Amino acid sequence: MNAERKVHIKSFGCQMNVYDSHRMADTLAPEGFTETAHVEDADLIVLNTCHIREKAEEKVFSELGRMRVLKEAAARAGRRVTIAVAGCVAQAQGDEIVRRAPSVDLVVGPQSYHRLPALLARAKRDGPIIDTEFPIEDKFDKLNPPSREAIRARGVSAFVTVQEGCDKFCTFCVVPYTRGAEASRPVVKIVAEAERFAWAGVREITLIGQNVNAYHGQGPDGRPWPLARLLARIAQVRGIARLRYTTSHPCDMQASLIAAHRDLPGLMPYLHLPVQSGSDRTLARMNRRHTRADFLDMIARLRAARPDMAFSSDFIVGFPGESEHDFEATLSLIDEVGCAGAFSFKYSARPGTPAAEMPDQIHEHVKSERLHRLQAAIDRNTAAFNARCLGRTFEVLFEKPGRYPGQIVGRSPYLQPVQVMASQSWIGKVAGVTITEAGSNSLFGMLASEEQAVGD
Ligand code: SF4
Repeated sequence: MNAERKVHIKSFGCQMNVYDSHRMADTLAPEGFTETAHVEDADLIVLNTCHIREKAEEKVFSELGRMRVLKEAAARAGRRVTIAVAGCVAQAQGDEIVRRAPSVDLVVGPQSYHRLPALLARAKRDGPIIDTEFPIEDKFDKLNPPSREAIRARGVSAFVTVQEGCDKFCTFCVVPYTRGAEASRPVVKIVAEAERFAWAGVREITLIGQNVNAYHGQGPDGRPWPLARLLARIAQVRGIARLRYTTSHPCDMQASLIAAHRDLPGLMPYLHLPVQSGSDRTLARMNRRHTRADFLDMIARLRAARPDMAFSSDFIVGFPGESEHDFEATLSLIDEVGCAGAFSFKYSARPGTPAAEMPDQIHEHVKSERLHRLQAAIDRNTAAFNARCLGRTFEVLFEKPGRYPGQIVGRSPYLQPVQVMASQSWIGKVAGVTITEAGSNSLFGMLASEEQAVGD
């Protein structure tokens, strides 16, 4: 039997990394590793990194500085600590990581997590290793499934990766290089995972992928299934009350997926649909393959299919060559869509991407000033959306105790946290809540009727 050891996994970036971190923990569990939230107690520290933003990458290196101090202190106390770097920075900068942070024992790319136990054993025996290959075998087939206890500890809402990689090659993005070409998991494996989650008490599943709506996994009939068909199949899994999917590309919003928003009551009416810019000139330079009008048409078609749809998006300011006129087109798009939420970023050049080589890079102070104005527009739209929720009754999935005694917190269909004074026995259930107050980050409400609870 393996001796008990502790692993601390820290995730940076997107939900895909959160999912991967869970799967790494599941794969390490049979080796005797239990998860700890306290890095000081860990025998193994894994940083699951993100390469999308420059800041995220720098955070990893400063974090590794802290880890080195911990490792040295543990060594003085006679304890061995292993440091592993996983994720997209690992994939893109394997050698650089070991050069800049010699305390790192293992660098492992996103396609090799299933090899973690063997790689750790090799690193212990032979010294630092870098494994950033794209192996032939499917890592999902080799990753250990989570235990019921592990699923429960992670809550009533779970992510399931259905697709990885991207073939779109937006000129600012490293994903096609770090995560490779688009690949979809087969339907039966995803359904089996959803059933396992439901058996352990999960009520909401978010299907995730770098370009999730390009999903085309093999169905049980041997043919490729689009995302809409996969969603319809998972909606049949007993116990799953809610479905979401992220992150989508506007060009892959097929008619069947739009119809799914009309036909599947469990598919939440909230879609994160990154557009990045409201200017056709910038969209073309980003290689986004659609125009502003295409995007607005897509929003209109989704709203026609499901009138209570709301949208969030991603925006980049200061993309090379972005003029004030281009930027204002982005500002006006936010108002035109009436975004309920959005993520916004200053453009930062990622080495190896075409945009990094564009000559007309924008000055930092211009980017900062535009980001400030963009965030003000987003905040204004979010506040207006939240204010429109007042007096409405939503179905809320309760997730956990709230901050104050007697309070529980759940999520509205639009992912807003909703705080309610109610018994903890509601956690894991979906119930109608009438919204009585809208704060900047949360809604407050009261149970509409105890009879409305569903899901026992
Ligand atoms: S679609 Fe998304 S993941 Fe793919 S290249 Fe563009 S930004 Fe990157």
